[in-house]
Amino acid sequence: MEFELSRLAEYDSDSIIAELQRVSAIISDEVKLTRILFDKHAKVSSCTVAKRFGSWQKALLAADLECRYSGRTVSDKMKYQIARDLTDEQLIAELQRIALELSSDMLTKLEFDSRSDISSSAPSRRFGSWNKALRAAGLKPVSMGRRHTEEDFHENLLNVWMHFGRQPKWREMKSHPSVITPGAYSKRWGSWTKALFAFLASVNTEQSEKCATHSQARPKLITPQAKSSRPEDRRKPSLSLRYGVLMRDNFKCLLCGNSPATDPKCKLHVDHIVPFSKNGQTVQSNLRTLCVDCNLGKSDKIEP
Ligand SMILES: [Zn+2]
Repeated sequence: MEFELSRLAEYDSDSIIAELQRVSAIISDEVKLTRILFDKHAKVSSCTVAKRFGSWQKALLAADLECRYSGRTVSDKMKYQIARDLTDEQLIAELQRIALELSSDMLTKLEFDSRSDISSSAPSRRFGSWNKALRAAGLKPVSMGRRHTEEDFHENLLNVWMHFGRQPKWREMKSHPSVITPGAYSKRWGSWTKALFAFLASVNTEQSEKCATHSQARPKLITPQAKSSRPEDRRKPSLSLRYGVLMRDNFKCLLCGNSPATDPKCKLHVDHIVPFSKNGQTVQSNLRTLCVDCNLGKSDKIEP
């Protein structure tokens, strides 16, 4: 085994570019070189790289790796600083742009934050409050909890559950990846605990119904044209199925054992063992929990 430094010996631009190229070469060509992936393999932090070149995108450009750029990831503080230089009109235009993108005349802060390069606290502070900013942009003020269906609530909760690899806490529902505030949950169900119970009741009912209806495995043939409404023929597993698979696998990647509960950078997916494109069914026995890294190494390929 070769001895390697865990940090770069030099931090000049050439060394950093060399490191970008080294890491990009050990990651599959089909995968974008995100800061998270880079930090996993690199001997210099992506922050240092981004600072040196002005941004992560510019760094990739300098290293001739622009095609591996995945999109922007900026911190909240940076998002706020970008907004400081914008005029009121520009802030309004950004609110309107995102409302248009969502084809909605209402916009929550979380929806805004997950889509904008500026922080929602910028228009809030500029106009006095979030609702005042919405009004300035000709949008309707937010009334908590009314826009979302029950399924939206449950879907969002499962997302955050997956993100942490465990039951989320109230305050964790306030930020990414949650798009619905914990207050909205409490308002709808009376309390956060009751909202959690409602979620569990929903996924458990769906599960037992499924067992009753599909207890016998039926042999079947799927043709690409045949549109079936049966859940096992849909690519996306239902909420309760995903929850069931994640619980069965203890919110851990079945290949490498990684879990968001112990590694915040780990992101989980529910994956088809026999790919859906190869007629794999969307049933619990053909689904497993994988982390993004393991999942990306696999894509749609099974050996013939
Ligand atoms: Zn893994």
